Amino acid sequence: MAKYVYDFTEGNKDLKDLLGGKGANLAEMTNLGLPVPPGFTITTEACRHYLAEGEVPGGLDEEIGTHLAALETTMGKRLGQADDPLLVSVRSGAKFSMPGMMDTVLNIGLNDESVHGLAKQSGGNERFAWDSYRRLIQMFGKTVLGIDGDRFEHALDELKGKRQDTELSTAELRELVGTYKEIVREETGHDFPADPREQMRLAIMAVFDSWNSERAVLYRRQERIPADLGTAVNVCSMVFGNCGDDSGTGVAFTRDPASGRQGVYGDYLSNAQGEDVVAGIRNTIPLQDLEQLNKGAYDELMAIMATLENHYRDLCDIEFTVERGKLWMLQTRVGKRTAAAAFRIATQLVDQGLIDLDEALLRVTGDQLAKLMFPRFSTDAERTLLTKGMNASPGAAVGKAVFSSERAAELAAAGEDVILVRRETTPDDLAGMIAARGILTSRGGKTSHAAVVARGMGKTCVCGAEELEVSISGKRFTAPGGVEVTEGDVISIDGSTGEVFLGEVPVQDSVVVEYFEGAADESDELVQAVHRIMAHADSVRRLGVRANADTEEDAARARRFGAQGIGLCRTEHMFLGERRQLVEDLVLAASPEERKAALDALEPLQRTDFIGIFQSMAGLPVTIRLIDPPLHEFLPDLVELSVKVAKGEATDKDHKLLEAVRRLHEQNPMLGLRGVRLGLVIPGLFAMQVRAIAEAARQVEGAQAEIMIPLVGAVQELEAVREEAAAILAEAGVEALIGTMIEVPRAALTAGQIAEAAEFFSFGTNDLTQMTWGFSRDDVEASFFSRYLELGIFGVSPFETLDRDGVGRLVRIAAEEGRKARPDLKLGICGEHGGDPDSVHFCHEVGLDYVSCSPFRIPVARLEAGRAALESAGSGDTR
Ligand code: ADP
Ligand code: MG
Ligand code: MG
Repeated sequence: MAKYVYDFTEGNKDLKDLLGGKGANLAEMTNLGLPVPPGFTITTEACRHYLAEGEVPGGLDEEIGTHLAALETTMGKRLGQADDPLLVSVRSGAKFSMPGMMDTVLNIGLNDESVHGLAKQSGGNERFAWDSYRRLIQMFGKTVLGIDGDRFEHALDELKGKRQDTELSTAELRELVGTYKEIVREETGHDFPADPREQMRLAIMAVFDSWNSERAVLYRRQERIPADLGTAVNVCSMVFGNCGDDSGTGVAFTRDPASGRQGVYGDYLSNAQGEDVVAGIRNTIPLQDLEQLNKGAYDELMAIMATLENHYRDLCDIEFTVERGKLWMLQTRVGKRTAAAAFRIATQLVDQGLIDLDEALLRVTGDQLAKLMFPRFSTDAERTLLTKGMNASPGAAVGKAVFSSERAAELAAAGEDVILVRRETTPDDLAGMIAARGILTSRGGKTSHAAVVARGMGKTCVCGAEELEVSISGKRFTAPGGVEVTEGDVISIDGSTGEVFLGEVPVQDSVVVEYFEGAADESDELVQAVHRIMAHADSVRRLGVRANADTEEDAARARRFGAQGIGLCRTEHMFLGERRQLVEDLVLAASPEERKAALDALEPLQRTDFIGIFQSMAGLPVTIRLIDPPLHEFLPDLVELSVKVAKGEATDKDHKLLEAVRRLHEQNPMLGLRGVRLGLVIPGLFAMQVRAIAEAARQVEGAQAEIMIPLVGAVQELEAVREEAAAILAEAGVEALIGTMIEVPRAALTAGQIAEAAEFFSFGTNDLTQMTWGFSRDDVEASFFSRYLELGIFGVSPFETLDRDGVGRLVRIAAEEGRKARPDLKLGICGEHGGDPDSVHFCHEVGLDYVSCSPFRIPVARLEAGRAALESAGSGDTR
């Protein structure tokens, strides 16, 4: 029979799938001998069963009963026992951390009798007992009974007036409990459940249900966490940070999650419980100051943090409580961090001898590297500093200030850049946080909700800008000196320094981009970390990395970024601008002579373009794709021409052009006269391009041309153009490979035949995705992809990450059958997917020779190619 409940002594950190991250790590700490209050974990499997069937699996209640009985024996008291109660917390905890997204209820087991027992237990601290009781009703009411939390908050605010919560007297807290119970009766028609076991049972189900709460669903979609994992539930005996000044609760990191530097980073709040620290109800103190308050607990905490770092060999974040001087550990996990910190920490750990370079490489991701390449604010620009808060999550964000999550989402949907400004954020602000370019709060530290969530999403965040007076209802804030910013005013926030500026500050390249450009300060710690990890990625990767580049400048930058050639050089832009007129001549040519004249005029221009590119890439291969788009794309607009004609302003040529535009009009241009079809229908067009390539290659030393034919679906098409091209090359005495794109499903399915006529394949996965799914790529993303994502039809757009099951299957078939027909067939990919981390891993797995992507994605592709090589060699989990 399935085992659904694990004591903390039974689990370990590798059981995250089953016990969730929190449960697995509570077990790990327990087994390390750290002070963890005893408890047990109900598995994610039980949750999945409950969510699927609408009831808990058979036997679960008994199993929970057995574990509770064992806990009661260990603790020497029974759950909710009137004279000496055991109290527990019921805590959510999924495989991937979802900070604040799901529910936790503390102090379960209290009722009108056991509250006296708790007071007695604490040496007569009645105030503490009633404070715990009111917290229970409040949390239980909100999360289990679904009552609007504001009702409790209001009652509390009314009672305390301008005082702190710690100043409420015992009598007042008693009164508050009465009010809370009244709220519960009003809202639910029932009394607050006094039976401790009933409280626990209901709380467990509420945690299960919270997996599907709106905000949890939204967070998962944002973070690409699968929807079907379910959450575990931890039942943990209570320890109390709210029983006086010698008690408190805190959160900490073993290193600075923003920079990676070692040191003491955390917040502590005296005489407080649970969420008080992150919710910002009172101002926290820096963790260092705990040393003064309680040296014993502080020293023990420092020792435990060192133990955890060595044990997990990584940055950990922790939650702890001090109960009357005694330290208790309530949570740890490998902590979220900024992209810069990820690189720094990985190399720091290598230097400390805790991990090797392989592991360091596996601990950073292409997405993180991409984040480091974002621009930052220019320091030369004139800027009006409004205030400085905490640098919670790096980046440079500019946008209109908005003061509510709804407004942020609204304006963002209308295409505006916004900065969400709040006093502090709560999980209810998630939609606005996702929509905003950046987040600014006036309260809370680096461990506040805003900071943690923003870092997780890689969003710029400045928090705790305490000098700002934020008025949410007035939709404005006031900065020191009286400057007022109201909704719609543009501000700029710097998440790396914590600075907040009025107006738009111009941005400049990131230091990592400068590094790739060869222009960075080499003593910079981040630059060094990136350099070491990139060097290692290059040394272990098997995949080559090329660039999609159409101009000399792009080619040169790509080379600086580490491109090993060009995988896609499009030629269509070479027909734009002033050269349009020549294309018009070509289209309007009435005789072979006129056509030839038009082509002859284009040829030297093309040649010059190619010379520039070959020079930038000398010594490296350059794949040039012959003209691909339909010709009417180069002609004037139908409406414009019609207007001219109607106004009587049209020239003779305009009349002819209008006729040509009408003639060339297609219902489905993406499926029309383009690619190889053009080459076959317009005599001399491809030949002109091939001559220009051959001549340019002859002139540039080290030129390595590869000629690529687009949109081939049948080997016969390729053979027909190949023959002509091969003859031109032979005549010029230039050697160049001739190959094809694989972007039509039929090409993938007949790859064995096509390989007979192709020396290389390059997967054009944009078109291949479009044609495999039947998705018009110019339309669907805007029109209905968001709905598809919502429905979970796919977790990410197939234009972003290669669809392994469908499009990927075609790639696999083509790669295998192509290589069977021609063992030395070169294989690459040149769609957008070439720079997407997951797709790069796929390309490695199917054995492509290289990926090709836009210049800015090249470092990402290099890094991910290295990780893919390690991953397939079995070096570990790269999620
Ligand atoms: P989250 O996943 O949102 O961090 P937790 O389950 O960690 O939620 O609970 C939030 C806070 O409640 C913890 O950080 C801790 O301070 C407090 N807490 C939870 N369980 C206990 C307990 N058994 N004793 C004391 N405090 C607890
Ligand atoms: Mg927690
Ligand atoms: Mg294409």
